[in-house]
Amino acid sequence: MRLPDFESRVQNISRYQSLESRVPRIAIVGAGFVGSTTAFALAMSGMAAEIVLIDRDPRRAEGHVNDLRDAEVFSHITHIFVGDFSDCCSADVTIVTAGISQSAQKSRMEGLRDTGAILHGLVNDVCLQNPPGILLIASNPVDVLTYAAWKWSGLPSGRVIGSGTSLDTSRFRRRFAERYGIASANVHAYVIGEHGDSQIPVVSSARVAGFPLAEFTKAMRLSQEESSLATIASNTRTAGGDIIEAKGATYYGIGAALVRIIRAILRDERAILTVSSRVPESMQLGEVALSLPSIVDRHGITRVLSIALDQSERRALEASAEVVRGHIESLSQAIPI
Ligand code: NAD
Repeated sequence: MRLPDFESRVQNISRYQSLESRVPRIAIVGAGFVGSTTAFALAMSGMAAEIVLIDRDPRRAEGHVNDLRDAEVFSHITHIFVGDFSDCCSADVTIVTAGISQSAQKSRMEGLRDTGAILHGLVNDVCLQNPPGILLIASNPVDVLTYAAWKWSGLPSGRVIGSGTSLDTSRFRRRFAERYGIASANVHAYVIGEHGDSQIPVVSSARVAGFPLAEFTKAMRLSQEESSLATIASNTRTAGGDIIEAKGATYYGIGAALVRIIRAILRDERAILTVSSRVPESMQLGEVALSLPSIVDRHGITRVLSIALDQSERRALEASAEVVRGHIESLSQAIPI
């Protein structure tokens, strides 16, 4: 069924106003490694009053729900249940983690068409039930699917958010912090671009407690070898693949990253996170979704920030946009976007 445009959806305002007073509900589509871990992290946070798990394998979803409920007495009272797409109706955010297990793929791009077909169907189902809702996409390749989901949903671009490089940014900050012997909370550095091999760790504007890197290392009497920064960047890029090689899938980091994004939305934080969305035209990167530092609040992404880059970082960002555009093009040959 064809979705009505966003304006006519919100004209049916009385229905959605009545939902505003509801308790916070998060729907998770895909109850595999990522979906179930996200549900656990969310339940431990106590932020959501209701978590609904939706999977094409309801038995698996039921198993996870029963296991998650066993944690209630030790954590927070959360109504966790197995549902179907009609339960997305009052969800504040629908997280999409449906897809193909990482162990069954050689790369994030493999299975693009299969995962694209899965998301094409379910985005339509979710939006029919919750027309103005926010979609948070984790399924890979996340930038391509965020772009496609934005197009399929007819939602404003700020309401279709990809987890993007939020996870890569956390990996980068932690490695930085380890290198300099400080807390990762004091490292302000971002990984932008594709959640994939063409990602860009932005070193030129990285700060530690407000110091540019060169000043910080000087103040600490540390040597700031180029090579160690290159190692941090390269370890960040390969981290996901290394984990998959060791244990078949990654899920704790992405689960925590998704819950961080949910917190920014539910609590109207205006947090700056590296999440993926359709890049504004003013950035001159073409029709593409990529991660850039973005302000996230209860409306979704309300502003994408243009980060200061040196020439080589800007060139790398353009190349990353080109890579994602190419994949969007190849997906659109299989499924209209
Ligand atoms: P998984 O195989 O464990 O889980 C996928 C689940 O999706 C399965 O339970 C399956 O039954 C379900 N599913 C498939 N089609 C469905 C449909 N039409 N409706 C409802 N449910 C459906 O895989 P996983 O390890 O949880 O990974 C899931 C996705 O997340 C993959 O695309 C993976 O690449 C991605 N991922 C992304 C990141 C990131 O940083 N963005 C990190 C890890 C994994």
